This record gives sequence, C-alpha cells and structure tokens, in this order.
Amino acid sequence: MSERRPMGAEHGQDTNRKSWLEKREDEARDLGYGIQPFTVIIGGGQGGIALGARLRQLGVPTIIVEKNDRPGDSWRKRYKSLCLHDPVWYDHLPYIPFPANWPVFSPKDKIGDWLEMYTRVMELNYWSRTTAKSARFDQEKGEWEIVVDRDGEEVTLRPKELIFATGMSAKPNMPQFPGMDRFKGEQQHSSQHPGPDAYAGKKVVVIGSNNSAHDICAALYEGGADVTMVQRSTTHIVRSEPLMKHGLGSLYSEQAVKSGIDTHKADMIFASIPYRILHEFQIPIYEKIKEVDADFYAALEKAGFQLDWGADGSGLFMKYLRRGSGYYIDVGASQLIIDGKIKLKAGQVEEITETGVRLADGTELPADLIVYATGYGSMNGWVADLVGQDAADMVGKVWGLGSDTPKDPGPWEGEQRNMWKPTQVEHLWFHGGNLHQSRHYSLYLALQLKARMENIPTPVWGLQETHHLGR
Ligand SMILES: Cc1cc2nc3c(=O)[nH]c(=O)nc-3n(C[C@H](O)[C@H](O)[C@H](O)COP(=O)(O)OP(=O)(O)OC[C@H]3O[C@@H](n4cnc5c(N)ncnc54)[C@H](O)[C@@H]3O)c2cc1C
Repeated sequence: MSERRPMGAEHGQDTNRKSWLEKREDEARDLGYGIQPFTVIIGGGQGGIALGARLRQLGVPTIIVEKNDRPGDSWRKRYKSLCLHDPVWYDHLPYIPFPANWPVFSPKDKIGDWLEMYTRVMELNYWSRTTAKSARFDQEKGEWEIVVDRDGEEVTLRPKELIFATGMSAKPNMPQFPGMDRFKGEQQHSSQHPGPDAYAGKKVVVIGSNNSAHDICAALYEGGADVTMVQRSTTHIVRSEPLMKHGLGSLYSEQAVKSGIDTHKADMIFASIPYRILHEFQIPIYEKIKEVDADFYAALEKAGFQLDWGADGSGLFMKYLRRGSGYYIDVGASQLIIDGKIKLKAGQVEEITETGVRLADGTELPADLIVYATGYGSMNGWVADLVGQDAADMVGKVWGLGSDTPKDPGPWEGEQRNMWKPTQVEHLWFHGGNLHQSRHYSLYLALQLKARMENIPTPVWGLQETHHLGR
C-alpha cells in the first residue's frame, strides 16, 4: 500500500462529517440491498477471506457469504487434534503476517481465531450464517442472480462476477457400501468426527489411510479407543521434520528469513518454476528423504503399510497439485502403526454388517464407530448444486494439472485447472487451495476482477479448455 495508505482522519471542516464507524455501518446496511456488490464470493474460509481482503484494497465492492456462524469455523469444526501441517512461514495471509510468537504449526482453533480477527480488521463485508441457495447468470442484464438465505431472510444478490471459494476439502466424499443402513453403531465422515472424547474403550474402524485417517486414528488411540485403520490403496508418507528441512526449508523457514527470503520472495521464487518441470525439482527431495528415513520406511512396510512416492517419485507436493490427496505428513501416527498401537488392515470393504466392517478377504472388523476418511469431492459439486450440472460440465474438472497420473487425467493443462483464471462459464471463477496458494493467487485473481470492474481488457493465453465433465 505505502503511499496509498488511507488517511483515516479527514482534516478540515465538514458539516456532514461521518465517522469511520458510521461509514462502515452504512456500508454494512446498504451493500447487497440498496447497492449491489461487484463480486460475490461464496465460501468464507481462508480462501474467501484472503480474496476479500485483496478486493477490499483494490476498491472492488464485495460480499463474502458463509454458512457457518463465524469466520474461522471451517477450521474450528474439524477434528479436535488438528494442527496445520504446513509451517507458519508458508501460511501468512496477505497484508498481515503472523506475529513473531505464532507457533510453527498452528492449532486449528487458533487459526480460526486469526481468520476471525483478520476479517474484522480488514473490514470485509462478511455475511456469516448465510447460505447460497442458487445462482443463475442473467444474460440480458449481464449479472448474476444469487439467492441466499441470510440467517432466515431470503436475499437476492446481483453481482457482475461470482467466485466459488467453497473449498477443495469441504464437500465430503461419503462412500456407499452395501449394508451401511443396517449398521447398529455410529457412522461419520471424517469431516463430522468430533474427536476421541466419547470413544474411550470403544472399537473404531477408520476407512482410509491419508492425512485425516492418520490424525483421527492417532487421537483415538490417545483417547483410549481400540482403533483399526483400513488401508485400501497405497499412500505416500513423509515425516514432517525432513519435509520441513528438505522440502520447504530453503524457502519457508526461519533460516530462509534470516538469509533474506521472506514469504513474498519465496512465493515468487516458487512460482518461477513452471509446473511442467516442477516434478524434476521435487524428485531429488524425496530421494533424499527416502535415504535419511530408510529405517522408518522399512519399519512401516514391515508393519504391512503399503507405500508409494507418487507416480514418478515426485512426492507430496506434486500429489497435492495433481489430485489433492493420497498422502500423510507424519506427525506421529506412523510410529503408532509401526508399534501396532493403531491396528492396520489392508484390503477393500466388501460390506458393512450390523456390527462392523467385512473386508473382501472375509476379515470381520467389529466396530462401535466407523469413520469414513474417504476424502472430499471437487469444487464442481458446489457448482452443480448451485448453478446446475450443465454449468459444472461446461467448466469441467476443477484442480489438477493434467499430468496423466492417477486421479489427474491428461491432457496437460499448463496451470491448475480452472483455478484463478477465466473459465468456460463467463463471470464464474474459482479460488482456494492451501494458505500459500490462497495468499499468492488471490492477488492475480483480484487484479483480474478489478480489471473487469474498470473495463480494462485482460486477455489470457488460451481460455481453459474442458476435457472432463465436472462430475
Ligand atoms: C484435515 C485437514 C487438514 C488440512 N491441513 C492443512 C494445512 O495444514 N495447511 C493448509 O494450508 N491446508 C490444509 N488443509 C486444506 C484446507 O482444507 C484448506 O487449506 C482450507 O480449508 C481451504 O480453505 P478454503 O477457504 O479454500 O476452503 P474451506 O476452509 O473449506 O472454506 C469453504 C467454506 O465455504 C463454505 N460454503 C460452502 N458452500 C457454501 C454455500 N452454499 N453457502 C455459503 N457458504 C458455503 C463452507 O461453510 C466453508 O466455510 C487441510 C484440510 C483438511 C481436511
């Protein structure tokens, strides 16, 4: 901002003077009613909030609609043991870096509070307890018609641009196994799992073997449950410590800061490597980790855990960019598996019985609680729900690179599919990802939206083509 810093005080005389608070109150009262916003962001997690802050600085009138009660709730509502897996240097939000005493790995409720504070001090028009019900683009008027339920009141918003920031880890992927309806115990998707407190002494089966499954199993073990993880396919595991050292350390760490690479510089350096060749930079990192942690991986395999390193050995970050799943950053659960404290069973689920889980090899796993840690659906699902399946199909798959590796079908896309750039549905955009992506790419998306508001042409290199239906 520097010389564009607002004055705050208005020196001189003005008989119609309004205080900062009065102006904020006027805006909060009028925007979305008498005055329409230029953009509406559906989803007020960290993605919607960061983009909202960027748009605020650029003077683009924006409303963020969020169905939860408070900013930060999308983190607060996750299982109680969750801490960020990425370190603080990677996680700063735009404009307000975390303070010097902020923990390296932020507990989920703490990050929730930070987001709530940020929303307030960045003066965002944040409509909490507001659910977007439907959205339709009115071609004649050149504007969206978005029907929202604002704490019981139906309001229609008419912005020019609509951004989905509904989260790539927000639409639960609930599997359909035969017999789920007859199970006598409790069943939850991992996103609904409250934590271990009610399950001491109970038998719990967790279906899945990625991040959520590991975190939930570890917390259940600590809470006194008898817990079994069902591994259905190979998983990439990397311990947090070597990942921080070899994977992120040169750009996002205390040492990086000391050598002059702050988060902004790190973001630019990172973004300077094209996705096409990024895996070549990643492979040596994971070869190194494989070497330094050879004993750890041998012990995991001995315990029956089925490992992978990504299709081409390029590890965690490429898996994240390509498919957004298939890994666990180990913060302790792997040792519990090695020690047999979390029981492990590899196999496919055949059916859910009245009393537990039956696997394809005939094994019966008795359970009081079954947790389905089976991941999340893509953001297309939200578009299908709110705008319609046709629009979701027109946009096509969201996320991934087209690397032709598992869950990321080709052809090669060049950049992340449909993220932060115009899509095949005009005036419809996507934003999200981890805190790093939210921080960095919110700027480029905000600038494109600002340009549209100012009628400045911003042609892009080739509009995103649709190769896959958005289902
Ligand atoms: C277990 C777990 C651990 C993770 N750990 C990390 C980590 O360490 N670091 C990291 O950067 N990321 C992590 N992630 C990924 C994390 O999901 C994202 O970084 C973050 O939540 C994405 O923010 P977002 O704003 O894009 O989406 P979300 O936080 O999911 O927010 C989307 C919001 O949209 C709202 N919404 C959806 N539909 C509607 C509607 N119709 N109307 C109104 N509101 C709606 C939802 O209520 C939600 O609040 C983790 C995810 C999980 C599940």
